[in-house]
Amino acid sequence: MKINVVNNSKPNNNESFESYLNEQIKQGYLDEKDLAPLKCHHCDSENLEDKNFSYENLGCVSYERWCNDCGKRVNTWDYGCWSV
Ligand SMILES: [Zn+2]
Repeated sequence: MKINVVNNSKPNNNESFESYLNEQIKQGYLDEKDLAPLKCHHCDSENLEDKNFSYENLGCVSYERWCNDCGKRVNTWDYGCWSV
């Protein structure tokens, strides 16, 4: 699986990145199967909404998931996978 790392506070090797992901999954922020965001990491809200869909010939290629409570972007889905 391709994972785009955009979080500046990320650990800098694969092993700790994996345990970082496992921790996020355990705390309910990420879906175990596809790493889709389930909760806002800014305010812990589950009131999320997908916006800004962009389409190419094959269909939807990217969209963003925003938090309706604090108004911040939670994550972006790009060509089949979530940025982490
Ligand atoms: Zn929020």
